[in-house]
Amino acid sequence: MAFSKLTDCLYVVAGGVFPKCNTAVIIADEVVVIDPGCEVEDLRRLLISLDLNLKDIDTVILSHIHPDHITHAARLQRLSNCRIAANEITAPLFNEKEAMKQFLGFSKSNPVRKAWEQLVNERMYGALDEGRVDEVLSDGDRFSFGDITLKMLYTPGHLPDHMCIEIIEPNLVFASDIDLTEFGPFYGHPNSSIGDFKESIRKLQHGKYNGLISGHLKEPLVTEYIDRLTAYSRQIGIREDLVLSAIIGGAKTIPEITATPIIYPSFPNVVYLQFEKWMIEHHVASLVAAGLVSEDKGKLSSI
Ligand SMILES: [Zn+2]
Repeated sequence: MAFSKLTDCLYVVAGGVFPKCNTAVIIADEVVVIDPGCEVEDLRRLLISLDLNLKDIDTVILSHIHPDHITHAARLQRLSNCRIAANEITAPLFNEKEAMKQFLGFSKSNPVRKAWEQLVNERMYGALDEGRVDEVLSDGDRFSFGDITLKMLYTPGHLPDHMCIEIIEPNLVFASDIDLTEFGPFYGHPNSSIGDFKESIRKLQHGKYNGLISGHLKEPLVTEYIDRLTAYSRQIGIREDLVLSAIIGGAKTIPEITATPIIYPSFPNVVYLQFEKWMIEHHVASLVAAGLVSEDKGKLSSI
């Protein structure tokens, strides 16, 4: 089954791994959809099983601007005239897709931009559609829908606009791309931040939730999430060791480091190589800041 019932009011439609994501659905006074990146047909099946349909959706909430999370937002808005809610960083990016491309590092001068647009249009079709955010959210904002209250929790790092959504009554957190996948944390954009990501992981670990809903795990609800988050965060350190090891081994530039993939197992698409390069750049900056690597005229060396 593509969806699971977590409580009487809360469901998750499994989208799973990138380029899809898991979608949370709340059925209370309103029909609320968080991150519509699952298959629309699976979302429709869930709603039909509850004597509802896509046109009954009242609100779509976006956790952040990534195409695999916003995929069907504009389409659902066209179908149901639902309001779209997003935080103050995400909102203008959703309303203006050129701003979104620049935010993600794919400005017109980036030679990988076309390949990225092609990837989005082939595998996350709809994410670049024009749509509008009707309600701008801030950190700590609360919404009550019948028996369920949602609270917005800023958790930057993955991207500066990344936000988790606390679901207060069952005491769960929709953790979006703090997703506990085997791949590990993704910070593959120029404005991603390893330090912020670690801090956001710690924030969730202190949340005292009954469980975490991952944006990408096949079994989305994780109850033993505190230990899992520790292991997840540790992957950042492992990657950093591998980057340092490559520099000690003689790699002097980012392309020389990425000649042997560290984060992705391989690069089926030039876009993934771009993500790898941006992630390695963050690690190099972190190693330079820690005094373990020096940079002289664009050449890296270990200290
Ligand atoms: Zn994301």
